[in-house]
Amino acid sequence: MLSVEQAIQAICESVEPAPTALAPLREASGLVLAEEVRASGDSPPFDKALMDGYAATSADREARIADFAVIGEITAGSTETFPVGSGRVVRIMTGATLPEGADCVIPFEQALEQADGASVRLPAEALRPGANLARRGASVRAGSLILSPGARLGAVQLGALAEMGRTEVRVHPRPRIAILATGDELVPFDTEPGPGQIRNSNELMLVLQASAAGADAVPLGIARDRREELESRVAQGLDADFLCLTGGVSAGTRDLVPDVLAGAGVTEVFHGCRLKPGKPVWFGRLPAERSADGQPRWIFGLPGNPVSSMVCFELFVRTALRRRMGIAAAAPELLSARLTSDHVSKDSRPTYFPALLSGASDDLCASPLDWRGSFDLQATARANGLILFSEPRTFAAGERVAALPLG
Ligand code: AMP
Ligand code: MG
Repeated sequence: MLSVEQAIQAICESVEPAPTALAPLREASGLVLAEEVRASGDSPPFDKALMDGYAATSADREARIADFAVIGEITAGSTETFPVGSGRVVRIMTGATLPEGADCVIPFEQALEQADGASVRLPAEALRPGANLARRGASVRAGSLILSPGARLGAVQLGALAEMGRTEVRVHPRPRIAILATGDELVPFDTEPGPGQIRNSNELMLVLQASAAGADAVPLGIARDRREELESRVAQGLDADFLCLTGGVSAGTRDLVPDVLAGAGVTEVFHGCRLKPGKPVWFGRLPAERSADGQPRWIFGLPGNPVSSMVCFELFVRTALRRRMGIAAAAPELLSARLTSDHVSKDSRPTYFPALLSGASDDLCASPLDWRGSFDLQATARANGLILFSEPRTFAAGERVAALPLG
């Protein structure tokens, strides 16, 4: 059986970054850039004031002028202008174009308005060349490189592209992932379960995990543990780039998912992984030549127990989505943390244990919660991370452990 590391490697080898496409700027948040972006113009596009105050020329400092005639006012966005110099200044607002002759801006706070309203006293030492202004191109020059392929597009990067007038950008597009819960015992979470039934909590959780990972999630509802029903729902799910099922991958007589996937032409990459919770996890690939659009599909069968589903999503599905999105560091990043209490790990498998992570990043503390197992979503709801207990032994308080932050 594969280790978690081997399973993650198999996923990274199977999933290739999506072919690039143009995306509108508004839809590109979180995506990875797939082109070199150069500045379409200078930024700022004109010499501009950085403060509200008076535009002046520093040469007037030598002339020992103290009282300046205010010859006009320029506000942001205005094209009106008045040449400055020899005792003449212009009232100017932040963002307005500097008038001809001006090479400094003296903030209102340093100026003394005269009673006549037409002149102002400015301290000589404030007339420093370049004070409180930005020259055209000070941020970037037209044609120079602003973002390279591989850059992750967040709010600031997309803002910078908007400043350059871009409306579209070449990216690895957002993957679509269909989420399908399986199980005869499941009812939608907004309905009352009958005897022997439980609510489908996994769907909502996985949809939100997928969105948080940057994918578009498509919930497909609940499929019964019947071959024909599973076949038609799987066929539907294979429209998306990824299909994530929960339940039906263990050894039960109604665990039909691996069989149905094989019947749909999906090639198994692995079934089972050495971890707790989540051992029965299944992963496969639909070869490109078997899909309608010539793109491969990737299919995860997660064990139905909610915490198994959640953990397998974070370790495996998230990695696959990140890889498809072209993110270089696709695999989960574990942090080193200090265990706050003794903990006995009994299972022979490496165990990802719900925990509270706290403290500074250079002295992260990890406290295991009172967690009862893969069904116990309620204790897990108090966790903000998982501690990896790598082997069956007693871990002592103060010991360093690996931890995976959640959310
Ligand atoms: P399975 O993996 O199908 O054997 O299911 C394992 C356990 O997880 C069973 O107790 C199921 O009732 C439960 N389970 C399966 N699917 C879900 C779901 N979508 N939401 C909540 N619990 C589930
Ligand atoms: Mg089941």
